[in-house]
Amino acid sequence: MKFLVRTFGCQMNYSDSERLKSVLERLGYTETQDPKKADLIIMNSCSVRQHAEDRIFGFALQYDLMHQKNKNFKVGLTGCMVRKTSTRKQEKNGEKVDKLLKRIASIDFTVRIEEIAKLPEILGIKNAKISKENEKIAPQELQNYFHIDPKHTSKAQAFIPISTGCDKFCSYCIVPYARGREHSRPMKDILAEVKSLVEKGYKEITLVGQTVNSYGLSAADKKTKEFAQKNTSKTASVPASPFTRLLQEIDKFHSKGLQRVRFTSPYPLDVTDDFIDAMGKLKTVMPYIHLPIQSGDNETLKRMNRKYTAEHYTDIIKRIRKRVPNCSITTDIIVGFCGETEKQFMNTYKLFKKIKWEMCYIAKYSPRPGTVSEKLLKDDVPAKEKARRFHKLNDLLREIAFARNKTFVGKTVGVLVESFKKGFNTGKSEHFKIVQFKSKKSLVGQIVPIKITKAYEWILEGKAVGRI
Ligand code: SF4
Repeated sequence: MKFLVRTFGCQMNYSDSERLKSVLERLGYTETQDPKKADLIIMNSCSVRQHAEDRIFGFALQYDLMHQKNKNFKVGLTGCMVRKTSTRKQEKNGEKVDKLLKRIASIDFTVRIEEIAKLPEILGIKNAKISKENEKIAPQELQNYFHIDPKHTSKAQAFIPISTGCDKFCSYCIVPYARGREHSRPMKDILAEVKSLVEKGYKEITLVGQTVNSYGLSAADKKTKEFAQKNTSKTASVPASPFTRLLQEIDKFHSKGLQRVRFTSPYPLDVTDDFIDAMGKLKTVMPYIHLPIQSGDNETLKRMNRKYTAEHYTDIIKRIRKRVPNCSITTDIIVGFCGETEKQFMNTYKLFKKIKWEMCYIAKYSPRPGTVSEKLLKDDVPAKEKARRFHKLNDLLREIAFARNKTFVGKTVGVLVESFKKGFNTGKSEHFKIVQFKSKKSLVGQIVPIKITKAYEWILEGKAVGRI
């Protein structure tokens, strides 16, 4: 039996898919990249943007035909499109049906990623404890999503989930309903995973969480022994933030071979001084931060239920740039949110010019079913106007990104190679820049010093100048 997992959306989803694949393999399935050969396709969905959902609907249509050809063929849906209340059974009982699922007739089952333990039962696999290699999946391993050993897809870098769920309730976002409240993973378990990855030769890890820097701070976390104690220290040597403590502990693996630590995505209000200090001080933490702002206008931020102001965000950036000179800073912005006036959009535009984000995921607002903004606010910015704002911001981004990339020309950067194709190695620099260079052989998994010779908007080109 063969499976294919299609992943949409953010790095959290890619990390979840690694755990999902591991479970499927240990249930006796083998992975294929060819949908025609698959007996089971699971789509790990993203609901942040309409575009991502549309792609899933598109794939689902193709799978309709495959159902007709292969009676045993199954399609599952997981990720953010699956709410706690999602079920196709409701349809049969004549109760209220999940609107999204109603649109995808070819879906055979849904499963929330946190409830992966239900997968053997859903797939009708009775002896779920035995895999083809005769390994046992311990019941507690399946019950606790964090305990599942992931199947890492990259030889270069690995994702490590450190928390799941979200407590922020931004008015446009489905995540708190799809994934539930925020829970952090015990630090000792995270460190054990880091240790095992470093022993396998991984040089870079990315810590993932919906609001990664609120690690250990959620209401649920505070009820646990590990995070119950409140550390009110304001000095950098005794960090108040559990996330900073985690970064410090992980940094100790530098002597064992760990070179790079990244994290995604932090929430502005949970950025602390000790965290900024750690960014500047710790050897493994890279000079790069993706800090979503969503809007540069305070009124819009309020409607979005983002609980900081543009001024607060700007101050964080100022402090980061002071402590980590030349730090690369990127963000997420939604244009055309409910009630966004031209003046409010221009506040975002002006802030963009001031902060100079060198990369930005710009989304045109579209209401996500089940969210507060969908229920209570009016989606009143016309589609044409949303598109105009999108392009205006995107043009500015391209200008800034190109100017920033040109500053790397002539400099030597360390590139962790992620792929090799047609004589070109491609990887990322310390500043998370995509760098490409020619080579006769694959250098995947290695950090190679590259002198940058040419800059484009989204990519840098260079020549190898030796090995680190
Ligand atoms: S912080 Fe806001 S946008 Fe991010 S996952 Fe949580 S609710 Fe969604």
